Amino acid sequence: MSSNGWEDWKLYERMVARLMADELSTDLCVTPNASIRGSITGIKRQIDVLIETRHDTDNTRRVIVDAKRRKRKIDVKDVEAFRGMMEDVGATHGYLVCPRGHTAAAEKRAQTSVSIRLLPLDHLENFDPRTWPSCLRPKCSKGRIFWDGYPEISLRLMDSSGKEIRRAFIHSVGKCDFCGVFHVECRECREILRIPDDDDADVGHQCACRLPWFWLASVEMDDKGAQSAELHLVMGHGEVRTVNRRSLSTA
Ligand SMILES: [Zn+2]
Ligand SMILES: [Zn+2]
Repeated sequence: MSSNGWEDWKLYERMVARLMADELSTDLCVTPNASIRGSITGIKRQIDVLIETRHDTDNTRRVIVDAKRRKRKIDVKDVEAFRGMMEDVGATHGYLVCPRGHTAAAEKRAQTSVSIRLLPLDHLENFDPRTWPSCLRPKCSKGRIFWDGYPEISLRLMDSSGKEIRRAFIHSVGKCDFCGVFHVECRECREILRIPDDDDADVGHQCACRLPWFWLASVEMDDKGAQSAELHLVMGHGEVRTVNRRSLSTA
């Protein structure tokens, strides 16, 4: 255990997720501690960091990341095990991240489908996921909310003199790093909403601002049968935007 009560490996995994989310295009969403049912093994595989398309049910560009906090270098066996996992969960690319580097043979085995990246432990110094808000699911006591998307809604309003002005409303969207449930934070009223994807009776969620949109999550299936949980922003006039995703199974 590290001094702040989080296991060292978990801190390292979350830091890798945070860095990935901060450097990737906003078209991609990042899920820490994801779980996908593999197409070969049929069992749930734990994935340190899952990267996939944010706005559509496209499972052909899935990337997974394995964060290996350990004292020795990454070797051939690590790369082979990781390539097996990539195949099982249908990942087209993988990142192996470690603090100590890798052997020459590991690099050869990685070929073009795996990138091995070095991330030294001193990056952890100013990193503290305890500052992240707690998950709002009643039975999830360990989870923290990992924000990775910031959808903006532009609204035409009247100012006090009756002149039309445009205002942007910004939100944070993300999910629990333990149970995966989606959350939305309104930057206006600072309310955080929990949006369940496993409740068919759910009719949508609004923050205290009561503006003309709401949030709703559902489980979607692509044309091959792969399932993903998706978070939607539903506008008053019926437009629906998918703003976050989390794959659940492969086809
Ligand atoms: Zn949770
Ligand atoms: Zn609000």
